[in-house]
Formats: sequence, structure tokens, C-alpha cells
Amino acid sequence: MGNDFFYAQPVKTWFGESCLDRLGEVLAAFQIERAVLVCGRHFAAAAAALQEKLPAVKAVFSAVEPDPQLSGAVRAAELARETGADTIIGIGGGSALDTAKFAAAIAPGDAEPLAYYRGEVPFPTNPLKIVCVPTTAGTGSEVTQVSVISNGNEKRTINNPVFMPKAAVVDPLLSFSVPAGTAVCTGLDALAHALEGYWSKNHQPISDLMAVEAVRLITQNLEKVRLAGPNADLPAHSAMAYAALLGGLSFALPKTAACHACSYPICEAFHISHGEACAFTLDSFVRINADERLEELCRRAGLSGTEELAAWIANIKKKAGLRTRLSELGEADIPALAAAAAVHPLMQNNPVPMDAAALEKMFETLR
Ligand SMILES: [Zn+2]
Repeated sequence: MGNDFFYAQPVKTWFGESCLDRLGEVLAAFQIERAVLVCGRHFAAAAAALQEKLPAVKAVFSAVEPDPQLSGAVRAAELARETGADTIIGIGGGSALDTAKFAAAIAPGDAEPLAYYRGEVPFPTNPLKIVCVPTTAGTGSEVTQVSVISNGNEKRTINNPVFMPKAAVVDPLLSFSVPAGTAVCTGLDALAHALEGYWSKNHQPISDLMAVEAVRLITQNLEKVRLAGPNADLPAHSAMAYAALLGGLSFALPKTAACHACSYPICEAFHISHGEACAFTLDSFVRINADERLEELCRRAGLSGTEELAAWIANIKKKAGLRTRLSELGEADIPALAAAAAVHPLMQNNPVPMDAAALEKMFETLR
């Protein structure tokens, strides 16, 4: 095999403390005159203030829930149609951004939303423009073409070019006020993005560079963020916001692997957050996937090796009160979890083949 690769990153990205103040400038750069803003309830008041300030924002949909449902994206898409919007701005954590992306994709279409969701009909080729403003340091959704949407208990990770944002506005002041426990969950999701992009079978050198830097920044700043809590140590929060962006860029092309593949059945069974679910198996997969390449990443990121990285992850999970055993999550059906994770498409990207038996063995160690 040679060293040839493909690389592209189409999202125009603005980063910096207070850069949300430049949202009007960003909309103008794309000639956006009619937009719907999509966010969660906690952001409703701030969204109203933004609408006041930005004439291009014609309506606000502030009913995004955690584990966002298809029904929410359908309502946001209807609002976009009613207001003649050409753009959807998502502001929030992964839930708000993924809802905005799905709404923008289906708004111009005539087919049943469920048919798009299930992949029975192709998405319209003329999606609305998408602008993403993350308010947590974790998801990376602002720079990927992935949208994770649920329909009842069914949760799908849909990877499609129609979900690619036009612009990302990453303002570390937005994640500055996030509670410490949430910051650790989202920060470990970002770490999983970087590591999985790096060890994915589709890894490539430009994404690798960003993964190394993300791992360095996260292992040097997440504990500071945890100790400082919300609204303190802005440099550490800023470093995490940047690391989360790099994490997104690390997996945007290579995609994630076993850890994310396991997170979906874990979330379905126990309804925990995406970040906590990814963190749950992350140190296990650092050990399972340990090889010379991963040792090299650790050294370049300022760690002695994979063992230190795995121990660091286990330690911060414990200190932040994240659950680390299946018994803390509830009644676990290990064979069912292993079987569901084994057939998840992302499992194919893992460098070490993991079948249901191997996964069962891993879950047994986490009983
Ligand atoms: Zn993730």
C-alpha cells in the first residue's frame, strides 16, 4: 500500500471567544436572508435575543430534546417551509445540531419523513443551508455530515453529504458555563472522536495530525475544566472547545469505530448520554486496540504510552462520577449488547476485529 489519501473539509469555520457576535457577518457571507434557528429549551431566551438582533432569523424552534426525535426535526422543517427559510441555524449540543441538519435535509422534499429516515428514498439534492454553533465541547457535529436521530426507541446514525454544514461558529464562551459532569462526558466524546478517527481502518495523515493534537489538548485540559467547574479557567475551556473541533475533524472522513458502535446499543438499553456511553468502553478499546501506531500517538500527545492514556480515562471517569460498570447502569443483557454492537456498521472500522464473542468478553470485564 502506498501513502496516497483523499482529504477535504468544506465547512467554513469561525473560532474564538465572543465569535457568536459575528453570526450576522457569517450569515451575510452566505447571502442568508431567511433562517430558522433550532435549539433546546435552555437556549430559548438567548435565541429570542439573537432573533431580535439578527433580521435574517425569521423564526425559532426551541423544542429540541436530548436524544432528538424525528418528530422534532419534522416540526423544524415545517417551520422552515412556512417561513420560506433557505437556512437552518443549529445552536446547542449534538441534539440541536443534528436536528437542524436533518430538518435542513428534508425541508425541500415531498416524501414521507420516515422514508428519508429509513433510507427508502434519497434525500432531496437541494438541502437548505446549515450553520452550526456548538454550545458543548464535544460533538464535532459542526464539521461532519453525520446526523444522529431517534424515532421512538430506534436510533440511527445517518451519514450523508446533505448534512454537511456550510459554516461552523465555535465560541468557547458558549461551553464555558456547562456543568463539570457534562463537560467531562462531552470532552470524553471528543477524545473518542480523535482516537477512533486515528485508529479507524480509514485513517489518513491529515486527520491523524488533528487527532494527535486533540488528544494532547484533552488530556492536558479536561481535568482542569472539571476542577474549575463552570465559568472558571477560560483558557482550559477554550482549549477544550478547540480540541472538540479538532476531534470532529479527526473522524469526519475516517469515521469512528468500535467504541461508537457500542455506544448505540448502550444508549438504547440504558438511556444515558452519548458522551457517557462512548466513555464507558473507551479505556477498554484503548487497551484492545493498543499497537505501535497508538503508542506513537500517545508519545506525540505527551503521554508515556497507551497504558497511561487508558489509566487517565478511567481516572477522570471515576473522579467525575461517570458510571463505569454495567451494574451501575441497570439490568444488562450482555449477549444482546454484544450482538447489537457486533453488527453495527462502525464496528467494521475497528483495527482489531471484534465479533460478538470478543465483545461479550469485553462487556464481561465491565459487568
Ligand atoms: Zn461521538
